[in-house]
Amino acid sequence: MRYISTRGGMLPKTFSEILLSGLSPDGGLAIPEKYPKISLTELNNWRDLGYQDLAFEIISRFVDDIPAEDLRRIIAQTYTAEVFGNADITPLKTLEPGWHILGLSNGPTLAFKDIAMQLLGNLFQYQLDKTGEELNILGATSGDTGSSAEYAMRGKRGIRVFMLSPFGKMSRFQTAQMFSLQDKNIFNIAIRGVFDDCQDIVKAVSNDHAFKQAHRIGTVNSINWARIVAQIVYYFKGYFAATKTNDEQVSFAVPSGNFGNICAGHVARMMGLPIKRLILATNENDVLDEFFMTGVYRPRATTETKHTSSPSMDISKASNFERFIFDLTDRDASQVAQWWSVVDQGKSFDISSTPLFNKIKDFGFVSGSSNHASRIATIRDIYQRYQVLVDTHTADGLKVGQAYRENGIPLICLETALPVKFSESIQEAIGHEPKRPSGFENLEDLPQRFVVKEANAETIKSYIHEQCHA
Ligand SMILES: *Cc1c(COP(=O)(O)O)cnc(C)c1O
Repeated sequence: MRYISTRGGMLPKTFSEILLSGLSPDGGLAIPEKYPKISLTELNNWRDLGYQDLAFEIISRFVDDIPAEDLRRIIAQTYTAEVFGNADITPLKTLEPGWHILGLSNGPTLAFKDIAMQLLGNLFQYQLDKTGEELNILGATSGDTGSSAEYAMRGKRGIRVFMLSPFGKMSRFQTAQMFSLQDKNIFNIAIRGVFDDCQDIVKAVSNDHAFKQAHRIGTVNSINWARIVAQIVYYFKGYFAATKTNDEQVSFAVPSGNFGNICAGHVARMMGLPIKRLILATNENDVLDEFFMTGVYRPRATTETKHTSSPSMDISKASNFERFIFDLTDRDASQVAQWWSVVDQGKSFDISSTPLFNKIKDFGFVSGSSNHASRIATIRDIYQRYQVLVDTHTADGLKVGQAYRENGIPLICLETALPVKFSESIQEAIGHEPKRPSGFENLEDLPQRFVVKEANAETIKSYIHEQCHA
């Protein structure tokens, strides 16, 4: 398996060569030369596998430059009942016959990003142990990504995490989740500013190539291909759990922001998993819904990005979307490069008058969006009808998924976080706060470890330099 760039400007590389970044030198995203096809026999053989064995079968199709026994061990270390709360890893909850929620949020930070990030942490560790190199992960977060990365990388030899967050702007729960980590390789940096200031600093540091090289700066952002691979697994797991035989089809509803989660569903479908529809749900930041409805992809300015009650989907552009467009154009890299040169100038492109617009349905995609009122109503409705409590993001997926539900086709809605992370909205929906999972009861009372810095790239560079030489 070799990887190429969606913009055509990269010689084929192995998985290990793209593991630490995912971004190609030409600005495109790494993608397999071709997708592995899963035969019906293989599908039959996989139906009863446990999560670890299934994960090995799928991930090894994409990772052929790590010896099989090593990969098997890394996967077995990652997907344990200890880390994910139960041996199913992604348990399926049935609301009523034909309508399910796939639980992806039982990892250490109670959001689906743990499923990919925990594997990434162990793959990084394996790679660095082999080369003896160090890695300094620099990131900006307004919540979920940062804590998921920190919990995946804590205590790992040769890895430090420098995570910038806007001082005083995250929820108390999210702040406590990150800042209570006492591991010496985790550096929480609270920036006097807003999230965009944090992101600007990350960009400025990454653009200083000399500093980046000297300090081995890396990222774990959502375009990382290994994260997509890890997420493919639960589409298969969910399919097997919701069906009895492999000639049934299912549809998935996916709360979407950067198009990472649903991109994994797209790849699973390309591999041959019998997925009828991939139902993409956005919140008020509906750049993706607009594309699937109208054929116009119009990334927003950051000033146009709304702050919503499903904040992990508050995006101005969808970084993984380029991978889907690459497939939609039948892998026309020069067309993708041309469109993204327009996108990178903050402008839009329009496929509505081309044959590609009609081709979208051949890939199973449909979409919809939600807003605060429908989100709250969905949480209340699901709670009253099924005594199941969902978070705001999952509610967006349930709301849009429900609108596309078909007779005879099981609908699986992906749960992307637990309600406890967004208790203000839960309070608004059902009149009381959600119960805390065990182990999280006194989170906000734990001692916190963080530094406060001005929003200045030079200040952050010297801080990173000092810590690397401490
Ligand atoms: C990151 C995140 C999403 C969006 O996922 P994408 O892969 O960016 O589309 C949705 N819900 C929650 C809770 C998240 O943390």
